[in-house]
Amino acid sequence: MSIAKALQDILAKLPQNVTLIAVSKTKPNEDILEAYQAGQRHFGENKVQEMTSKHEALPKDIAWHMIGHVQTNKIKMFAPFVYMVHGVDREKVLSELNKEASKCNRKIKALLQIHIAEEESKFGFDHREFNELIESNLPQKYPYVEICGLMGMATFTENQSQIAKEFNSLHELFLLGKSKYPAWDTLSMGMSGDWELAIQSGSTMIRVGSAIFGSRNYNH
Ligand SMILES: *Cc1c(COP(=O)(O)O)cnc(C)c1O
Repeated sequence: MSIAKALQDILAKLPQNVTLIAVSKTKPNEDILEAYQAGQRHFGENKVQEMTSKHEALPKDIAWHMIGHVQTNKIKMFAPFVYMVHGVDREKVLSELNKEASKCNRKIKALLQIHIAEEESKFGFDHREFNELIESNLPQKYPYVEICGLMGMATFTENQSQIAKEFNSLHELFLLGKSKYPAWDTLSMGMSGDWELAIQSGSTMIRVGSAIFGSRNYNH
């Protein structure tokens, strides 16, 4: 299936309030341009170097989402242009983002990553850390970071009810956060295999790679 057709099929099923991020990690610029020409503007990458060189080579109205684990020493590389950072999984990332964004004299959109999966290998705040974090006055502490909501990844499993349970728990935390920060409008959850389930559980942003670009040669 062509990239344009795959995009069209997904977009046809998306409710209006849900944004599709095309996850282009490991994929060449030609593939990104094909999606771009079909109208796609939001793209996701998980490696800083790769996102930065793609940003340099490709049209400047692309909104780049950093969806991978963030190493704080690399934030300065993408601070000038990144659209949204999904993987804020510790306060150190918030303070570094704030510092680099202030140097660029811009606000950077960010999502707090929550650990909802069973796998220990996945990143994110646990429930207790999340509760503590939202009790502090985040906009005052990090004025150059605009926290827009939450991001999470479900367990890699065929068990749909487990995935649904994890998505629903993330949605509950999102509503809790939103009751304190009413401007929150983004719940980033759902990938190629589970985005429809994620939308049923309240997702407003899905991150889809292989269902658009085909399988990757190597896994990240
Ligand atoms: C790779 C990746 C995706 C997309 O995965 P697919 O299964 O190819 O859709 C989504 N989110 C994150 C954080 C990723 O690293």
